[in-house]
Amino acid sequence: MVVFGGTGDLAMRKLLPALYYLHRDGHLHEGTRIYALARAQHSAESYRKFAKRHVSQYVARSDFEQSSWESFAARMDYLSLDVSQRVEFPKLTKLLKKDSERVRVFYLATLPSLFAPTVKHLASVGLADEYARVVLEKPLGESLLTANQINDQIGAVFDESRVFRIDHYLGKEAVQNLLALRFGNALFEPLWRNAHIDHVQISVLESVGVENRGDYYDRAGAMRDMVQNHLLQLLCLVAMEAPVHFEPEAVRNEKLKILEALRPITGMDVQDRTVRGQYAAGEHAGERLPAYYFEKRVDHDSNTETFVALKTEIDNWRWAGVPFYLRTGKSMAQRKSEIVIQFKPVPYRLFPRSGDNPENNRLVISLQPDEGIRLSLMAKSPGRGMGLQNVDLDLDFADAFKRRRWDAYERLLLDVIQGDATLFMRRDEIEAAWRWVDPIIAGWQDCYRSPKRYPAGSWGPDAADSLLERQGHAWLDQRS
Ligand code: NAP
Repeated sequence: MVVFGGTGDLAMRKLLPALYYLHRDGHLHEGTRIYALARAQHSAESYRKFAKRHVSQYVARSDFEQSSWESFAARMDYLSLDVSQRVEFPKLTKLLKKDSERVRVFYLATLPSLFAPTVKHLASVGLADEYARVVLEKPLGESLLTANQINDQIGAVFDESRVFRIDHYLGKEAVQNLLALRFGNALFEPLWRNAHIDHVQISVLESVGVENRGDYYDRAGAMRDMVQNHLLQLLCLVAMEAPVHFEPEAVRNEKLKILEALRPITGMDVQDRTVRGQYAAGEHAGERLPAYYFEKRVDHDSNTETFVALKTEIDNWRWAGVPFYLRTGKSMAQRKSEIVIQFKPVPYRLFPRSGDNPENNRLVISLQPDEGIRLSLMAKSPGRGMGLQNVDLDLDFADAFKRRRWDAYERLLLDVIQGDATLFMRRDEIEAAWRWVDPIIAGWQDCYRSPKRYPAGSWGPDAADSLLERQGHAWLDQRS
């Protein structure tokens, strides 16, 4: 495992802790070696100390065991290398020479602008052979055009089967549970269609603001940072047909069909079906929160969106007529990611209404902060008469399995080592997602409208609620 960007935030917060757990729990082959690369000067020993300081912060205290750390650290080595300098790569070849017939995973945890020189230089020193795989972090481009440029440059060196484009949402247990729920149970699939489902909501909300990613985020915005990848991937898993096998090409073919069936949002529809917002100053739990344009490394006149809500439809037999509402934002009232499947009402109401707002059946799949499934049913209210009320069947995966929850990166790193690309994005998926997203961004640019302001610590702009109210719907968290 060769981690380019081995001293960076991603390596320290996610990759090394995930590798530590895989090591501690016996999932790494005894010969597995981890090489961290960056420009900074470190000896292997000083790098191990540096890594220990960080990893111990991101691994649960009770899981950080000295003996496991020592045997893990013994797998690690460090090489100072500037990926933009071809002349430095022979050092890497020398380091890897003794392992020349081992699987080599090159994890590019660096700026995307360094992807092309890195793979070109790897090829030039003979390291991009059939034993090599490359893992690419998001963002993969800023548009279809730029994503294609990156993919072409990578594709000139690595064939598609050896390219692993990571979307860590797909590594989450709860996301895979969505597939288990749909295709491992006979119960839901017959109902999983427009005849029975009224609408679907997919929300990925963060309570934090842009933190110290201002320079990247101010160029990207929520549409490129979240919708183009995480939200569309979740939508694919909710909506896709059952694949013939649970194997990479079969699963990815089905996801691609959904992306290709997404109704385009262009022209006037961009104003009608999308809401973009930006957080203004606000408050959360008594703490004052700054406006986006006062955050570090953000332009004071920034028009970048920190919130997006939109309504889309999938033009196929299963989903025709079912609205899919997507929503993501920063500095929101709560951190949560969830998928809400709202079923249609019963065809004929036999029992009297109880209360003003009787609910239909609803399935809520929580991905974050807790992972679980909540099925809301109607039951008879205790006492006289046949008034109904809403009750939940609640399944919390942490309670149900009483086992440590794997972090998404653990699962995904192990998949890369084993060469399983099922949970990684194929090039044509990325392209289809950009093809759908590009016209929305262009529509926003054409109308020169500023994003709608919402107070930090709130549920986003009012327009995001109106988007659903027009159809008689409401975000689950906005219902009275
Ligand atoms: P970061 O903290 O800025 O780390 C960048 C790493 O790249 C450092 O180790 C840096 O070390 C190294 N580097 C920079 N220029 C280099 C060069 N010319 N040659 C060799 N190494 C070089 O960034 P990050 O947050 O870890 O993010 C890395 C990538 O992952 C980015 O593309 C980011 O968008 C993506 N990503 C990050 C996260 C996250 O949670 N952090 C999540 C999703 C995606 P030196 O300066 O010493 O060379």
